Amino acid sequence: MSIVRHFISGSESAEAVRTGQVFDPATGAVAREVAFASTAEAETAIAAAKAALPAWRSSSLIKRADVFFRLRQILAERTSELAAIVTSEHGKVLSDAAGEVSRGIENVEFAAGLVHLLKGERAEQVSRGVDVHSVKQPVGVVAAITPFNFPVMVPLWMVASAIACGNTVVLKPSEKDPSAAIWLAKAFQEAGLPDGVLNVVQGDKVAVDALLDSKDVAAVSFVGSTPIARSIYERASANGKRVQALGGAKNHMVVMPDADIDGAVAAAISAAYGSAGERCMAVSVLVAVGDIADDLVAGIRDRIATLQIGPGTDAASEMGPLITREHRDKVASYVTGAAAEGATVVVDGTQKTFAGDGFFIGVSLVDHVKPGMKVYEDEIFGPVLSVVRVETYAEAVELINANAFGNGTAIFTRDGGTARQFEFDIEVGMVGVNVPIPVPVGAFSFGGWKSSLFGDSHIYGPESIHFYTRSKVVTTRWPDHTPSQVDLGFPSNH
Ligand code: NAD
Repeated sequence: MSIVRHFISGSESAEAVRTGQVFDPATGAVAREVAFASTAEAETAIAAAKAALPAWRSSSLIKRADVFFRLRQILAERTSELAAIVTSEHGKVLSDAAGEVSRGIENVEFAAGLVHLLKGERAEQVSRGVDVHSVKQPVGVVAAITPFNFPVMVPLWMVASAIACGNTVVLKPSEKDPSAAIWLAKAFQEAGLPDGVLNVVQGDKVAVDALLDSKDVAAVSFVGSTPIARSIYERASANGKRVQALGGAKNHMVVMPDADIDGAVAAAISAAYGSAGERCMAVSVLVAVGDIADDLVAGIRDRIATLQIGPGTDAASEMGPLITREHRDKVASYVTGAAAEGATVVVDGTQKTFAGDGFFIGVSLVDHVKPGMKVYEDEIFGPVLSVVRVETYAEAVELINANAFGNGTAIFTRDGGTARQFEFDIEVGMVGVNVPIPVPVGAFSFGGWKSSLFGDSHIYGPESIHFYTRSKVVTTRWPDHTPSQVDLGFPSNH
């Protein structure tokens, strides 16, 4: 059986002492194994990144930008090849996997503009004959730790900007779908990235802890579930590193009585069940305001009856399997538990049967959900849409602002004033107005509030340049041939 290995200093490592299994979620079979790094192996990757740092941070910006232009070309031309790798290990349908690659390309395009992004500031004559300018310099070795649900896009959220800023990187992808990271590292190499600038260590907590505890890692970018994000933030920041740790979500989509109901139904279905709900920006709670709830629920119920669920490689499939058998069973437990909690299970996806041993589950729609129920409180990360009925806009806002998570939200309305007020009121990091999944385009940054993000930097876009650089401010005076004098007072510029 083949083994997905580490990629250190430009080549795949030979040893694999500890290994884990990688499944094909569509069949349930073990497709390959993945190496699990020991502490020593992770330290070898960190040492490789450290050794590559002086040359990379000294490389010309134009040369660096060239790598990203070439990488963009490789990703665009070979999207289907990479999408097939994603589908084989993650399970999502091929078109969705290709969509993930194209959203990742946005981060590469952003990074290609690094000459512009790394410009500092300058002020002339802050005092007589004295000028000040600032520069942005790399932080050093960056650790990038990523989740299973976007094995291409989320690594690119981190590594594109980190490398553009002159840092070197150790990427620790999810052990559940590790192959895409190796493909990406090789694509970077083909695009001209020097060996050691991007290294990949495969594995679990052992590899992650080695990254968090190493004195040679300066910054940590993490995306994953909230409990792990919180622990990563605490451990890495206690070790003196800068950290951004993005966590889980419970995204609410508010539908006002004046909304286009048909459009809202289609948007809710797409955002709740796309990628089997395994998106951190998936809509998991539909908040129906006023007397439209029955129409919304009936519309969704009728239209999801014909959704095609099957292998991601089948062109007819609209939704693939979940990532693991255990996760599938956990998702099912929320649906079966919802009725006991007093909710109404309108469509029970757990009752749908599938041939074979793939990790499939049908889509579920649960009505009359209320705060306090497990189906409402937990991030389910599966194809389960809850409907909460409220009477007023104010109740909808109160519900969302009381929720522990604050990743994404959306409002569907025809009223600009309501939409504007929602934007003002809502305590969530990313807001859609008649857009159900408001993932910012690559020129903006992505990040939630509250338990959806630990740290103060959002990811990719302009905030990533801030996160992956240290600013240095230089105050300059050149001899002006006037007689020099000693002054023990604190420098003031008046
Ligand atoms: P996860 O937290 O289980 O794993 C994320 C990463 O952490 C993986 O690389 C994993 O190997 C590692 N890890 C797991 N347990 C660890 C531990 N105890 N110590 C150290 N490292 C550990 O997340 P997942 O199941 O792979 O991904 C799904 C989660 O990610 C969901 O909660 C989803 O909302 C979240 N997510 C958030 C965003 C966002 O931008 N906020 C984006 C994508 C996914």
